[in-house]
Amino acid sequence: MATGNGDTQAGPKTATASGIEVSFEFFPPKTEKMEETLWQSVKRLEPLHPRFVSVTYGAGGSTRERTHATVKRIVDETSLKPAAHLTCVEATREEIDDVIREYWEAGVRHIVALRGDPPSGIGEKYVPFDGGYANAAELAAGISKIAPFEISVGCYPEKHPESASYDADLDLLKAKIDGGATRAISQFFVEPDVFLRYVDRARSAGIEIPIVPGIMPVGNVAGYLRMSEATGAGVPDWFRERFEGLDDDPETRRLVALAVAAEQVQKLADQGMRQFHIYTLNRAETAVALCHILGVRPNKPLAA
Ligand code: FAD
Repeated sequence: MATGNGDTQAGPKTATASGIEVSFEFFPPKTEKMEETLWQSVKRLEPLHPRFVSVTYGAGGSTRERTHATVKRIVDETSLKPAAHLTCVEATREEIDDVIREYWEAGVRHIVALRGDPPSGIGEKYVPFDGGYANAAELAAGISKIAPFEISVGCYPEKHPESASYDADLDLLKAKIDGGATRAISQFFVEPDVFLRYVDRARSAGIEIPIVPGIMPVGNVAGYLRMSEATGAGVPDWFRERFEGLDDDPETRRLVALAVAAEQVQKLADQGMRQFHIYTLNRAETAVALCHILGVRPNKPLAA
């Protein structure tokens, strides 16, 4: 079984005494109320010294603008290091290259390079945009040519639904690394063993970059089941049973979701994982609790 994320770049500034590091993912808010919630969460999570915080990117002009605005505000108003997600969807190489240059000029030094999903919907056939980057490997290579960004990419413990096999999937991860990626962040998953087996397979295939588990505490089970169907993430029976009968009880659902995610991170930490990427859904509470369990505490003296 895997014995660690494989991070050779852990910096002492963000590591806890146990060497555990976290990163948080946010999505750009759509309304003023959501904006307020996001910034309250950012401020609450900032003293945990995450290695970076990432902001997702959607298709369509207004979503893109919101990502840029959120990333820019993180640079201007916090001590956090933002990682801007960027996709290849519905844009030419020139348009994407301009975005990359703008990020560099704004002080952003980390991009999460993704292909993106088909604009017609997940599960539909992906058709690369005319004159655009065809996939995340090409995008990573394009970013590397423009400036020395840190580049993270997505990876899939249960393989990407479009990949013909696990081996083909790992070949594509290798192509992203050849393009300049130095970290892979995983799609969400339920069973820690699924992630650990994936890390083992990647290591056997010669992949050495850090592979960071994406931890998704599940607040909305129906939404999660829909997403898992589309992304190919497995949902074991025990997981469904944990949430049975809680459709009209969001408070208990939230607590059960925290318990499930807590088991996940504990098991992964016991197996030597030292980096965790938490999908916050813009709420701080669960992320703070998971960090606490992992020994990542606000303003805890940093390891030497
Ligand atoms: P790629 O790795 O480029 O490719 C996906 C699949 O396409 C491959 O697995 C393979 O099956 C096929 N493929 C690609 N290239 C080739 C090739 N040369 N030959 C044959 N087959 C090929 N989406 C967003 O829209 N915005 C976000 O902010 C966002 N953030 C994400 C963050 C993480 C951590 C993850 C894991 C996913 C995120 N996604 C996001 C979703 C992502 O865009 C989708 O999963 C998408 O379907 C694949 O993106 P990718 O970068 O992994 O693609």
